[in-house]
Amino acid sequence: MQVLKFGGSSVANAENMNKVAGIIREAVRREPAAVVVSALGGITDILIQCGTLAASGDETFREKLQLIEERHLETAKSLLPVTQQSGMLSLIKQHINELEDICNGIFLLGELSPRTQDRIVSYGELLSSRILSASLNAAHVPNTWLDSRQFIRTDSNFGYASVDFDITRQKIASFFTGGQESLYIFPGFIATDERGATTTLGRGGSDYTAAILADAFNASKLEIWTDVSGMMTADPRIVTNARVIPAISYQEAMELSHFGAKVIYPPTIQPVMNKKIPVWIKNTFAPQDAGTLVENKVTVNGNTIRGISSINSIALLSLEGSGMVGIPGFSRRLFEALSNEKINVILITQGSSEHSICVGIDEKFAEKARSAVDRAFDYEISVKKVEPLVVEKDLSILALVGENMKSHPGISGKMFGALGRNGVNVRAIAQGSSEKNISAVIATRDVKKALNVLHEEYFETTYKQINLFIVGTGNVGGKLLAQLQQQQAYLQHQLRLQVRVVGLANSRKMMFNDEGLSLDNWPALLAEGAPMDIDLFVRAAQSRNLRNAVFVDVTANEKVAHSYDKLLQKSMSVVACNKIACSSSFESYKKLKDLAREYNSRFLFETNVGAGLPIIGTLNDLLRSGDQVNRIEAVLSGTLNYVFNHYNGEKSFSKVVRDAQDEGYTEPDPRLDLSGTDVMRKIMILVRESGRQLEMDQIANEGFLPASCMDGTVDDFYAEMEKQEPHFRKLYEAAKSAGNKLKFVAQFENGSASVGLQQVGPDQDFYNLYGKDNVVLFYTDRYREQPLVVKGAGAGSEVTASGVFADIIRAAQS
Ligand code: ADP
Ligand code: ASP
Ligand code: MG
Repeated sequence: MQVLKFGGSSVANAENMNKVAGIIREAVRREPAAVVVSALGGITDILIQCGTLAASGDETFREKLQLIEERHLETAKSLLPVTQQSGMLSLIKQHINELEDICNGIFLLGELSPRTQDRIVSYGELLSSRILSASLNAAHVPNTWLDSRQFIRTDSNFGYASVDFDITRQKIASFFTGGQESLYIFPGFIATDERGATTTLGRGGSDYTAAILADAFNASKLEIWTDVSGMMTADPRIVTNARVIPAISYQEAMELSHFGAKVIYPPTIQPVMNKKIPVWIKNTFAPQDAGTLVENKVTVNGNTIRGISSINSIALLSLEGSGMVGIPGFSRRLFEALSNEKINVILITQGSSEHSICVGIDEKFAEKARSAVDRAFDYEISVKKVEPLVVEKDLSILALVGENMKSHPGISGKMFGALGRNGVNVRAIAQGSSEKNISAVIATRDVKKALNVLHEEYFETTYKQINLFIVGTGNVGGKLLAQLQQQQAYLQHQLRLQVRVVGLANSRKMMFNDEGLSLDNWPALLAEGAPMDIDLFVRAAQSRNLRNAVFVDVTANEKVAHSYDKLLQKSMSVVACNKIACSSSFESYKKLKDLAREYNSRFLFETNVGAGLPIIGTLNDLLRSGDQVNRIEAVLSGTLNYVFNHYNGEKSFSKVVRDAQDEGYTEPDPRLDLSGTDVMRKIMILVRESGRQLEMDQIANEGFLPASCMDGTVDDFYAEMEKQEPHFRKLYEAAKSAGNKLKFVAQFENGSASVGLQQVGPDQDFYNLYGKDNVVLFYTDRYREQPLVVKGAGAGSEVTASGVFADIIRAAQS
């Protein structure tokens, strides 16, 4: 005998029932079968509503009953030939009449007991199984309908009855002594107690019915037919990358279902595991898919983690107090108090200090638990040995499951690291000594993010999703978006990163798309966006609570720079091309670095110095490996280098600056470059990154711009430079006649920093520096005589955008 169970969606309507009939027809060709069915999808919920509405004196229960009647009549009519309909239709009407009588009684009394509720819901499975049985007979698949209540014996815990396996086995054995027919149809979910009252096995309990029958029949296998192609690595409704697990052990399946994988009702596994009956989970709507095999021993397939699941609506109870230390019996009394109230404990943790015990339970029993436990510890609370029970709600449990975990250290480190980086606060942790699962209690609002983060962490065949919020679509921002678009396929295939732009803004507009904006036509989309407001943008980015979130600032805007602290505190990484944050006061620079460390986020700004050149990264690597920076010499302004390399007496100085601006090599206000302020900021950032405190006013600046150039608008500035052409020409001629070149050099030595225009001779390092190149010389403990040199293009929107891109990838891969 084999046992097949079909869930609510498999029998939701006539079309689906036909699919089910096809599967059964094939199955009975091979071996006799016992088939268990759930109620038509959604019917159990409506039946429960009927009872509660009636009990609260609401007559609309009648409309619900009518709905139930219509759905069953319609299904039966489409499945049965007209000549065979009358018996079935009158049976449906009769059942609905009985239901109506019960609901009328509840309505009059204004009271609904668990016992009556079980009676009501039993009609769901009674009706569906009758209809399936009749339609199979009509389709020439002969079968016998049997009432599960005749065989499955339980206690009288209505709603969650416990099965008496001995009596159940005896009843089945004695009924079938005369042999078995080829096909029996059973309603799932329902049973009877000793006195013959209808009981139910808990929501989702039809799976359990099937396992109970598989045990009693010593079945060759149990097939659970549902609406997904097997047990998956995570709930597919939450994790879109979830995939089917081909094979899983009983223990693992039990853990996953215990912690919320709804595809199997948790008690289902125990009876089949005891008898080593293999279980297949199959898809009614894709029967050709292999499905999942649940069996005793599963070969390791490279993945240490088999699956990840979660349960919502958890309350965490904490019992704490100094009086608990070393005194036996406290935990026993806690669990006794809960079990007397029939409250099921889902998770337990106890600190080794024995000061506290934490248990996770279904939130709906939280208040009941509070009064039961406080009553049980009444005396200890009154003498202040124990605190009153602390109850926290809106929590969920995440569980990482895999039998192979025990031979792999570091699993939990990876788990908590990934959660921490994404700002998911872990309230409690439990790991069974069998090391089949690690579970963590977190806030329900973080569940989606946490499940996806962990799934990406442990199932390497899936992509890590990176969610970007980009502010700035000018020269650099525009190039960055183009590079992201071009590199999408490469990132996905080579780095396994799926980079999406979820939020985009410029100074005028902002817009969001949770699925990721199309990068083909972002200008048109953004033009339709809402007016830009950086505070709203930041709030929208935070409230989305997305995993691996990176805020990218490609502006030169002060207000944008002031929002980093709020983002870092939410564990969002910040990638800044904007230099304002790192070059304002040391205190605020340090605060941002500290926040990033505290909240496990990344604060990256490689492009603040030398555009895309790996200058800050190199410096960080030197320090991380224990080196010490003693002296820095650098040409850090691509703009000034461009200007002095092109200023050769042909064009005016003002024109050369204009060319640099047109090429995108200057700040929006070129005076920041020409005055040396930009170079001061850069050397200051390098000094700060090398571990020293420095402020702008501590940097000496030997500027070359006449003071008159600093007044007025950018246009005034160009006009004034034109007037001052003789001044610039003099500087140029002086250098030229001495055989030197002009370079704007930044230096740091013996604790002090300076910037200024210098004449550089042919034997000096900076002489051969062309175009807009930058160069940095690091003299360190290791690089004493010959410095470590980083040199290359230090300005330009394309290289800057690629530097920002590299920071984004660095943030993503941490
Ligand atoms: P049935 O009505 O057939 O009993 P259920 O709705 O009870 O079906 O269970 C199947 C559903 O379980 C799937 O549609 C899926 O959304 C959900 N589910 C949750 N976690 C998992 C998981 N790990 N693997 C597969 N399905 C899961
Ligand atoms: N019909 C019941 C429920 O919805 C049992 C089941 O579907 O397994 O809970
Ligand atoms: Mg189910």
